Amino acid sequence: MKLIIVAILFACVVACFSEKARYDNYRVYSIEVENEQQFEVLKRFESGLDGISFLETPTGIQQKAEIIVPPHKFADISELFETLKIKNQIKIANLQKVIDQEQPQHLERSGFGWKQYYDLTAIYAWLDELLEQYPNVLTNYNYGTSYENRTLRAIKVSHKKGNPTIFIESTIHAREWVTQATATYFLNELLTSSDAEIRQLADNYDWVFVPVVNVDGYAYTHSNDRMWRKTRQPHTDNCIGADPNRNFDFHHAEVGASTNPCAETYAGPKPLSEPEILALTEFIKTFDNIKLYISFHSYSQLLLFPYGHTRRQAPNHSDMMQIARKTREAIAKRYKTDYTVGPIATTIYLASGSSIDWVYGTQDVKLSFTFEFRDKGRHGFILPADQIIPNSLEIVDGLKAMVEEAKALKYL
Ligand SMILES: [Zn+2]
Repeated sequence: MKLIIVAILFACVVACFSEKARYDNYRVYSIEVENEQQFEVLKRFESGLDGISFLETPTGIQQKAEIIVPPHKFADISELFETLKIKNQIKIANLQKVIDQEQPQHLERSGFGWKQYYDLTAIYAWLDELLEQYPNVLTNYNYGTSYENRTLRAIKVSHKKGNPTIFIESTIHAREWVTQATATYFLNELLTSSDAEIRQLADNYDWVFVPVVNVDGYAYTHSNDRMWRKTRQPHTDNCIGADPNRNFDFHHAEVGASTNPCAETYAGPKPLSEPEILALTEFIKTFDNIKLYISFHSYSQLLLFPYGHTRRQAPNHSDMMQIARKTREAIAKRYKTDYTVGPIATTIYLASGSSIDWVYGTQDVKLSFTFEFRDKGRHGFILPADQIIPNSLEIVDGLKAMVEEAKALKYL
């Protein structure tokens, strides 16, 4: 009898505490925010009112946005769209189905690769293996600790002294899984590929990778809620996390970031309030030779550069535009994947306190870019694992072109 009670208790502990958020029949709508009235009304959903939430909160008019709607709110939202004449389109008819089909049917329980998505533990175990395999080329950095006490890690590939540094930051937004997969794919290429262009990239530059910036958020997307974006530090009784890519100390919270702690784009109570971002900025400052800074995000197929906080052009705007265009061409060659390029503020929306703006604006790094990977909303953040390799291949093509053009323009 006792044993049965223990067994039942145990079953409850497992079931009751590992319950994952489900999105059965939830729709994702793509909408256009065209006027102030629409914007003001839609803003009410910034905190996830009635189960309706934004994938990214619109920060003004003339913006596209995506909104998640649970089945019991379909009628209400349709009425709202109609009343306010909000242009809308259903992008995903059943979000849970997309989530269920993200990983392949047969998951490898151990090891590492690019045919499925792996959690933080597997990524870190793989980094440890690499460090053992390539002790003369790789350097490990444990550069800090997250709010939930996870180690923040980076790894550097360096074949010789005096190389310019290229810094790749990935998975600052937790649910953008394809970013860590692409970062680790490229790291692996730099170590193992025999392609002459890749060898040249590996030999002549120091590559620093932070495969997962937002470690707590990333762990949470695996354990509790696939759609989680922010950090995991509570800021009020009800609202957890800040948007780490609005938390940098450069024009913090000025525009294109929310002051509402429940919003997906909450900038945090002050710059660097998130321990992961404070640690990352301190870590970046230890390098004195970063010539190119790259931030990996998904989705939308964009290649963006500063500024985000203003529509004013950055001093070397035309050079960054030229590099971005060459990169875009290279990405498109393999599978015709179409990227849009330009400054953050005029290409998507005003957004202040992002990593690439901070690096560009305060660290004397003349080139900084954000990639928003595949796709354009069909799967959104839940890109099926069988697209990891195609995405990685076209991005490696793009990175080759980016470095080549930066070199031609004498930045490298
Ligand atoms: Zn992102």
